[in-house]
Amino acid sequence: MEKTKKAAVLGSTGSVGTQALEALKNIDMEIALLTGGQNISLLAKQICTFRPALAAVPTKEAADRLRQMLPDIGTRILGGGSAVCEGIRECGADHIIHAISGMAGIPPALAAADTGARIAMANKEAIIAAGHLIYDRLAKSGGELIPVDSEHSAIFQCLTAADAANSHSPADPAKIRRIILTASGGPFFGKTLAELSAVTPPMALAHPTWKMGKKITIDSATLMNKGFEWIEACRLFGVQGDQVEVVIHPQSIIHSMVEYIDTSVLAQMSYPDMADCVRYALHYPQRAPFDGPSLNFAAVGTLTFHTPDEEAFPSLKIARQAWGAGGCAPAALIAADEIAVDAFLSDKISFTDIPALVGETLAVCSIYPVKTEEDIYEADRAARAAALAQIKR
Ligand code: MG
Repeated sequence: MEKTKKAAVLGSTGSVGTQALEALKNIDMEIALLTGGQNISLLAKQICTFRPALAAVPTKEAADRLRQMLPDIGTRILGGGSAVCEGIRECGADHIIHAISGMAGIPPALAAADTGARIAMANKEAIIAAGHLIYDRLAKSGGELIPVDSEHSAIFQCLTAADAANSHSPADPAKIRRIILTASGGPFFGKTLAELSAVTPPMALAHPTWKMGKKITIDSATLMNKGFEWIEACRLFGVQGDQVEVVIHPQSIIHSMVEYIDTSVLAQMSYPDMADCVRYALHYPQRAPFDGPSLNFAAVGTLTFHTPDEEAFPSLKIARQAWGAGGCAPAALIAADEIAVDAFLSDKISFTDIPALVGETLAVCSIYPVKTEEDIYEADRAARAAALAQIKR
């Protein structure tokens, strides 16, 4: 008999984490590890429902609080700065769903890459800032990474579909002419730079298509999220920057496309639902039945496509420059953006100041090659300090 597969959900209380757990209810996998930090009472509820052998939280205090909330159900609770990584190493999961957001996701991503498990990756920062370190470790451990972000899942699906007759591994980058990364355009699609300067945090937090955390919702509104995804596409699929094109597609039905060298284009379509991407990553290379509504083309009616306005939304250009600069520049980009988004949400800078601040920060940061994890954290610290200094001025 085949032994039951084990799954770990990192960041289980967040938006992707809760959807992943929902999907896992219908998948025959044992939950080996749950990690959280922001919402201890939800984590306690999840532990009671899923009964993992291990749970990890980033501080000893959070671990104590969690222990007090839980009845004795046999879950061992780890707490402290390295608890999440320790949990990853100990839990023996074959599938690790990485849904921790922000730079805090880098150490767990590296720890996960060492285990040889499949990583269903929803954390962008680790791919952007530490992608090559992760791939080096995956090569050593025999692990693999399947993207969970809807666009990259779509590209991955188009690539595997094209090569399905030969193998289950994605197509050779040499066969790709272009990757077409679709973007909803966010809530301010069609607005001019002047109109954007009057955007307030509540306006920016109302995203038309996807329900997500605050940081990524603002990143979607500035298109910085698409800039990040553009870098991820270059990193994940081994293509050159000029092979990845961003197209605004407000209906969010096509989640991205791949054009092959013979000019044939494959698209992946569905109603927008992150849980689909999680399920795909867990079942790949199989496709498991799912009892959701079929895409009703007649009801959708029209699919439209537009070129992004890079004057009003300069974030795409800034992301391309950061990737072009290489080394620690993508890490600095993420750090500067985190500070800028924070400053916007606390009314210290305007909406249009976000990309301006990120661009100015990158211009003053020193860019050097990333050889170790520590190089990334150093770049992160320096970019945060530089961004904060720009705000004060
Ligand atoms: Mg996305």
